[in-house]
Amino acid sequence: MINCADFMAEIGNYLDGAAAADVRRQLEAHLAHCQTCQVVYDSARKTVRVLTNSGSFDLSEAASKPITENIMAMIRGQQRSE
Ligand SMILES: [Zn+2]
Repeated sequence: MINCADFMAEIGNYLDGAAAADVRRQLEAHLAHCQTCQVVYDSARKTVRVLTNSGSFDLSEAASKPITENIMAMIRGQQRSE
């Protein structure tokens, strides 16, 4: 069973569709019972969608990684300030 730190470490890969099938299963199992990670996942997913829909960048593997990292840094910052 994974914990929240493991989830945060893998969420970028999960959003990019780059996580391995067994990792995805573990992330989904964690999401199902962890409200904190549900909020983080939802925020990150919405932010990625807004960015990709803006057409301002190409969501290639090379382009998406720094963006998901930036999103995660932003989310972590928000959590710290609460
Ligand atoms: Zn969690």
